[in-house]
Amino acid sequence: MSRPPTKAGVKQVVRPETVYVSPYTWNIKYSKAEVLKHHPNGDACGSCDLESMTIAIDPGKSEEYARVTLLHEILHAAIRSSDPNIESDAEEMAVASMTGPLLACLRDNPEVVAYLIGK
Ligand SMILES: [Zn+2]
Repeated sequence: MSRPPTKAGVKQVVRPETVYVSPYTWNIKYSKAEVLKHHPNGDACGSCDLESMTIAIDPGKSEEYARVTLLHEILHAAIRSSDPNIESDAEEMAVASMTGPLLACLRDNPEVVAYLIGK
């Protein structure tokens, strides 16, 4: 989601605050403190908490990094929505391996995205 160009021609980014990952709507918080709640040793840029239905993103990185992190956490949400008991290492490996290629695929293939979403 982004706003139209401003007078200066620079697009202002509007970060989404919720994301629907069937069958749940997740809140998205751009908060380092929220990330640290789930990764207190500070080694993560995002978190995905099924209990509170919250995805958290470290806001201190670039917008590009925030986008990649959000997609990564959405993939966690998708897996946890379908199998809340999945083994965490297997989940992380699956999510980490898909995030970059999937985001690149979505960016590089707008016609495919339009087809997939029926627009
Ligand atoms: Zn992860």
